[in-house]
Amino acid sequence: MPIGAVPEELLAATERTVVEWFPFDPYRLPPLPMPPSAWQPERGQYESVTIMKALAAACPPDAARLLGLTTADIAIPMLSFLFGQAQFNGPIALVSVSRLRQDFYGLEPDHDLLLERLAKEVLHELGHTSGLIHCADPQCAMSLSTHVGLVDAKQASFCAVCGSQLVRRLTSSNG
Ligand SMILES: [Zn+2]
Ligand SMILES: [Zn+2]
Repeated sequence: MPIGAVPEELLAATERTVVEWFPFDPYRLPPLPMPPSAWQPERGQYESVTIMKALAAACPPDAARLLGLTTADIAIPMLSFLFGQAQFNGPIALVSVSRLRQDFYGLEPDHDLLLERLAKEVLHELGHTSGLIHCADPQCAMSLSTHVGLVDAKQASFCAVCGSQLVRRLTSSNG
């Protein structure tokens, strides 16, 4: 579900990533307007928990997961920013592409790199919704990224341990 306007190619790339790793049949929902109460003028960012609540309220009853995608810069009070957020073992996940863009850091835009980073963060947050915790393998999609360099150190895939755990959890919970 796009939150506000999200470029079509980012939505399509997200759907490709989902079907590659998860037994889900993605369908796109109409964009959810950004909840005005999420805006934090003093930080110049959007509050992630408010968006997560709006996603939960908009989640169709038949959805195995609801993944929200936003171009907005998101944060929670404790952290200066988030690449994404997810319910642990719950249906709701959120990914922000704001800090996955090279131009956020004053660099030349790199579309392929953006799509690669997006795939990693989509896998990471959907992994949490499937009960996966952070992984110590820096190449695994489930490793914690506190800055974009650590996103780049990851692969857009799960390590053998997380991958088999994911399959077990997906098959034991009917998705
Ligand atoms: Zn995480
Ligand atoms: Zn792992």
